[in-house]
Formats: sequence, structure tokens, C-alpha cells
Amino acid sequence: MSDCIFCKIINGEIPSKKVYETDKVYAFHDINPEAPVHVLIVPKEHISSHNELNHENVDVMKDIHLAANEIAKQLGISESGYRLINNCGADAGQTVFHLHYHLVGGTAMGSKIL
Ligand code: 5GP
Ligand code: ZN
Repeated sequence: MSDCIFCKIINGEIPSKKVYETDKVYAFHDINPEAPVHVLIVPKEHISSHNELNHENVDVMKDIHLAANEIAKQLGISESGYRLINNCGADAGQTVFHLHYHLVGGTAMGSKIL
């Protein structure tokens, strides 16, 4: 997708602070962190939101979740804990329409979802 910010980050057109990369996923520090650790994990394939997951493209979710485990270990939050968050659509506040998971941690966030 030529006008997608995260596609441009994945192909290097827009710089990012890379944390982790495989042939299927790319992860980088959020530009506007909301926690001491705030990493975005994205599939290299352009999938615009969670709504667009289907039987053909869902295998990448395995890679995203395993990436989250590796990154949590790498950044020292696997034992202290973290959240893995996806915002889908307007009510969730999705602003970038390329599927992504926020990996946030490094602080106690309490037990409330909202
Ligand atoms: P959403 O609200 O769609 O779930 O989250 C989009 C996230 O992307 C936000 O946390 C925002 O700070 C981050 N973001 C937007 N543009 C850029 C960018 O150019 N670089 C990086 N590293 N993060 C970005
Ligand atoms: Zn994209």
C-alpha cells in the first residue's frame, strides 16, 4: 500500500527504531510512547485491521505472538508483565490502518481494561 505509513516504515522509506524483524513481521518503538516500553509489532503484509484477518492471512498471527514473546524477553519485561493491544476501528481509536499490536510494559498498569 503506497500511502500506508507502516508499509513505508517496513520498506525503510520512513525511519524507525527497529526492535525485531523476521521475514513475516517487523517491530519498532512507538514514536509517541505511552509506557516505558511501547513497541509496535506489524505484519509485513499490508492487512488494514483485525477485521481483515481471514483464513488466507491469519498464519501471521502466530509470528506476531511469538515476536511479542521474544521482544518482551529482549526488553526485560517478560517476567514483570506486559499488555498486547490491538485497536480495531473508530471506537477503539485505531489511527493507522495497517494491522498492529502495541506491546506495552515496564510499569504497573493495574487490572482495568479501560
Ligand atoms: P493506533 O491508535 O492505530 O492503535 O496506533 C497507532 C500508533 O502508531 C500510535 O501509538 C502512534 O504513536 C504510532 N505511530 C504513528 N505514526 C508513527 C510513525 O511514523 N512512527 C512510529 N514509530 N510510530 C508511529
Ligand atoms: Zn500498510
